[in-house]
Amino acid sequence: MGGFYLPGLLLWASQFSATLVALAAMLCLTGSYTVMIVLRRAKAMRAGRRMSWFLALCLCFGANVWATHFIAMLAFDPGIPIYYDTTRTALSILVAVLGAMPAFALLLWCPAMRLAWAVAGVVLGAAIGAMHFIGMSAMMLCGSFGYNPVSVVVSLACGMAAAALSMRVMQRTAGRGAFRAGLLLAAAICGLHFIAMGGLVITPHSHWLFSPFITGKGKADLAAAVAAVSMLLLITLLISATTDAKLVERQIEAKRLWHLARHDDLTGLLNRRGLRERLSEMTGEPLVLISIGLVRLKPVDDLFGREVVDKLFCQAAARLAAQLQLADILAMPAGEEFVVLRAIAGAAGEPLAFAQRLIDCLSEPFKIDGVTVQIGACAGLVCSEGSGEGAESLLSAADIALREAKAAGAGQARHFTMAMSARLLRRHQLEQEFEAALRNREFLLFFQPLFDCRSLTLRGFEALARWQHPERGMIGPDEFIPVAEAGGMITALGEYVLEEACRAASTWPEELRVAVNLSPVQLKSPVLPEKIWAALARNGLAPQRLELELTEGAMLEQTAEVQLSLAALKDSGVSFAIDDFGAGYSSLSYLHRFSFERLKIDKSFTREITASPDARIVTGAIIGLGAALGMAVLAEGVETEAQLNILRKAGCGQVQGFLLGKPMPEQDVQTLLTQVAKAGGRAVPVLS
Ligand code: C2E
Ligand code: MG
Ligand code: MG
Repeated sequence: MGGFYLPGLLLWASQFSATLVALAAMLCLTGSYTVMIVLRRAKAMRAGRRMSWFLALCLCFGANVWATHFIAMLAFDPGIPIYYDTTRTALSILVAVLGAMPAFALLLWCPAMRLAWAVAGVVLGAAIGAMHFIGMSAMMLCGSFGYNPVSVVVSLACGMAAAALSMRVMQRTAGRGAFRAGLLLAAAICGLHFIAMGGLVITPHSHWLFSPFITGKGKADLAAAVAAVSMLLLITLLISATTDAKLVERQIEAKRLWHLARHDDLTGLLNRRGLRERLSEMTGEPLVLISIGLVRLKPVDDLFGREVVDKLFCQAAARLAAQLQLADILAMPAGEEFVVLRAIAGAAGEPLAFAQRLIDCLSEPFKIDGVTVQIGACAGLVCSEGSGEGAESLLSAADIALREAKAAGAGQARHFTMAMSARLLRRHQLEQEFEAALRNREFLLFFQPLFDCRSLTLRGFEALARWQHPERGMIGPDEFIPVAEAGGMITALGEYVLEEACRAASTWPEELRVAVNLSPVQLKSPVLPEKIWAALARNGLAPQRLELELTEGAMLEQTAEVQLSLAALKDSGVSFAIDDFGAGYSSLSYLHRFSFERLKIDKSFTREITASPDARIVTGAIIGLGAALGMAVLAEGVETEAQLNILRKAGCGQVQGFLLGKPMPEQDVQTLLTQVAKAGGRAVPVLS
């Protein structure tokens, strides 16, 4: 019965029912594949949530091995009746389940251990073997049986080797080779069973016991029942492992999307949405919200590119994080802007000092890819007593304060006040009303006379825009020019001012010039020269009578096109003045690139000139600089005779100020001109 040469093999094989063997093999394949899927699922779980899948895995393995063995035994018909001891049969299942436990525990909890797959394979092979031989010992027949020791050893070795290989496939492919691994495990189970069966030696007794339980149709029905129950168990497990995996995948994806929607992808900090949600959770608690804006980023972007700017953001985030306490929240609600949230504790002045520290840490130079980059920062703060302000209103209050801080210059921090929001509201309203105001000709020009410093001869007028608002009254340019610049209406306003200035000047005596202020935004228009020439031509004004005033800021941002425009205008006879000299950046480099006819000393120097020797020295130096560079010098804001006298002594060319004439409407200019004419050409300044 135990021979393995061909006729012997055929004789041996004839003792098995082919249908039931096929059923056992099919069940074994399904079961082994299920084992792999459940193993993969258990592996994917976090260690804490793995236990239930581990138990299901061991149960699945045990049930699979047992059911395969049992059906294969039912397929076996040595010619004498066999029946099985229930206790031992049950024990054999238990052994298979328990035997699998150390193997799978090792794979799941110590996957990094060297040769874990081999150890697990040997243990699983042993479990299959133990199940098989205990299951065999449950066999009760009319005779005795024993084993060929060689086939026992070979069957165990094959079972262990194939099981180890299947575990190796699972480990190496990170679970993707579940089908191959399942095939190998099925080979381990079936191989062990049939090789061991090959070594089974049955010696029948001469007198048989008859049992209806184990013969004929009853046998096939039992096999079908075992197979059906096992299959049901295995398929249930297979479906739950697969759907659970999909569910977890979906949960992970949902979590990822949730995180993505609430975090900045560059710095990983909370974005505006995430911050808003956190803030909403915190309403009711007293807190301080600090909005930090980075300034001077544009030159970094222009010089070094976006990549460096991105790295700068990451470094800035790290620096800010280093300043925070554990409970503080750092967010990046917009590019170039960070927000820090802190539950308020301590004195009222503390948030401002904290904001200043944040600004300071960002004002230190950054080293990025071998280049050193220096930027600045400003901060807007808003404190909440927890009286239920909405997240959005806190954020916008901090933004308003930040805007004011930025207007005050780099390094500034401002607490939000209601006056700020009133200013902003007014600004928005002006922006809304601007275009209609232009159409309704609510803008008018005032003219301020410019005099020769020594002789006080009238030299011309500076055109200064005013907004005669029907409800709000007269609005000054310091308020509406920034609105027009930000809203893009400055070009239209500038054209209107030019037209009106040229028209008014064309009615004045020929020797008087008109000075018109140009915004840096207007300079960027490529058609600026054409527009100016057209205005001059329409009003019959000689280009020599027009002077354009530019600020230092406008000169710093110059492009090649702007320089070409300025040069073309200059060639046509239009002259240029540098306005508010000394009040801005005072980078003198632009004076080489473009030669101005006039330099206008800012009124802040004139104001100080009588009281401060330093202001006198600076004013004197500016006049000297003008003379050396061949530029005429005009001092703005002359309000007293003392100032006028000092300027005269310092050799200043021209003056402008309330002492000699305030900005006046066009009809008053005509009165002044009549007085000048009556004085025989000599200027008659209105000394107040
Ligand atoms: P700016 O060009 O420096 O004009 C001189 C400003 O100083 C005017 O203010 C004028 O009223 C004021 N001022 C003149 N004399 C004195 C004085 O003795 N004391 C004092 N404290 N101030 C004096 P205004 O008209 O409010 O204009 C402010 C600024 O608005 C101007 O400064 C100019 O930069 C800008 N601006 C005015 N009109 C226009 C315009 O049509 N286009 C553009 N782009 N900017 C304009
Ligand atoms: Mg000016
Ligand atoms: Mg000025």
